[in-house]
This record gives sequence, structure tokens and C-alpha cells, in this order.
Amino acid sequence: MALDAQKPLLEVDGVTLQYRARDHLVTATYRVSFSIRKSDRYVILGPSGCGKSTLLKAVGGYIKPVEGSITLGDRQITRPGPDRVLVFQEFDQLLPWKTVEENVLFALTSSGRLSGNEAVDRARHYIEKVKLTKFANSYPHMLSGGMKQRVAIARGMAMEPEILLMDEPFAALDALTRGQMQEELLQLWEDTRVTLLFVTHSIAEAVRIGNRILLLTPHPGRVRAELGSTGVDA
Ligand code: ADP
Repeated sequence: MALDAQKPLLEVDGVTLQYRARDHLVTATYRVSFSIRKSDRYVILGPSGCGKSTLLKAVGGYIKPVEGSITLGDRQITRPGPDRVLVFQEFDQLLPWKTVEENVLFALTSSGRLSGNEAVDRARHYIEKVKLTKFANSYPHMLSGGMKQRVAIARGMAMEPEILLMDEPFAALDALTRGQMQEELLQLWEDTRVTLLFVTHSIAEAVRIGNRILLLTPHPGRVRAELGSTGVDA
């Protein structure tokens, strides 16, 4: 079946997102619509403050739209769930008192997805995929920034979510490491075909990672253009 004929996996329809500041409302995005198909590498690109993170949090179920709707498959998103996992920019998203393997395992077992040997096998599989097997028993403070981000990605992928949400995951890395991480993410995508929703303010990164790119205007974020192929490139 042609991918074009598929129903979208994620549909964001006319979504307006606001924050309530002390005496006024901040409109972060205004009537944003887009849809993502399974195995897309969908990138939201725009300047700082245009509402990219807020949109990602809304897809994560952490913020409710004041207007419009977000649906995953045939379910409206109303709360967070293990079908949507977020990877952040910050290096401190790992639990510092747990090893690499324990960090990945903890996500699997605490979500009730898997238990016992199955969880251990799954955790080791994804740690191997991000080339950290030798560091499985290391603690986060023993790792470089790039390695910590690889653990966060392994942890997210191990959950086998329907969509992996990535909020500028490489923005705090040096240029060389950032390039390597982009390459590794594309290799992981080749292996897993996981659906990605990736936020960045870097045009170069958007072009490298995305098969489709949504360009947002500055504050409040509105859709300026959608670029990219209509199907998932092989
Ligand atoms: P981006 O990810 O594109 O940099 P954000 O989604 O972080 O943008 O922010 C969008 C807008 O919402 C900005 O104007 C920002 O100042 C505002 N904003 C973000 N978080 C909050 C908050 N917790 N309270 C009030 N305003 C916020």
C-alpha cells in the first residue's frame, strides 16, 4: 500500500496554545495544523520563542490546547502516555544515582511495559544500538554530554513509543558531536523506522534530520510553510 494512502498517525488540527502569565495570556502558537505519517522524520523549525517546545509538550499531553485538537491514531490526546516519549536538550534528564542500564530499565519497568528478563533484554538491545554496551554499568556523571544524550535516546526508543518527541536534543553539544549524533539518529531510524517529531531552530539540522519540515513564524507560532516529500523516503 502506498504510504500516501495511509491515514496520518498524528494530527494536530488548528491548535492554539497559551500560558497564563501573572496578568495576561501569552499565546505560544496560533491555529497550527499539521499531520505526521508513520515513520516520518517530522521537523518543526522556527526561531527561539515561536512555540516549538510548547507544541511538543502539547503532543506529549502536558499542555491542553485552548483551541483545536491533537489525535494519535484514533485517540484524542488528553494526558501523557508511554506511546509518546520526550527526549530533552538537557544533559541532566537521566537519574544520576542509576547506571546507564538501570536508567533504561527503570523507564521500562516503571511504565509497566515489561518486567524481568524481557526488560533487561530490551534495555541491553537499545544500549547496544547507541553503542554504549561498554558503559552499561557507568553512572551518568562518568559520561560525556553526547553519551548522556545517547542514553536518553536509548531510553526513549526502548519504550518503543508510537512517536518519539525530541526537543532540541543536540543543541547543547559541540558542533562535531552534534554532527555525529545527527548521523547516529539517522542510522537508528534506518534500523527502527520510529516516527520522529523533532524540534530545532537550526536550519542545517532540520534539513539533515527531516523528511518533512514545518516552518513556524516568530511569536506566536503560526504555520509559515511545510516543506518536504509527501512520502517517507526510503
Ligand atoms: P521555542 O521552543 O520555539 O523556543 P517556547 O515554546 O519555549 O518556544 O515558548 C513559546 C512562547 O511561550 C515564548 O514567548 C515563551 O516566552 C512563552 N512561554 C514558554 N513557557 C512559558 C511559561 N511557562 N509561562 C509563560 N510563558 C511561557
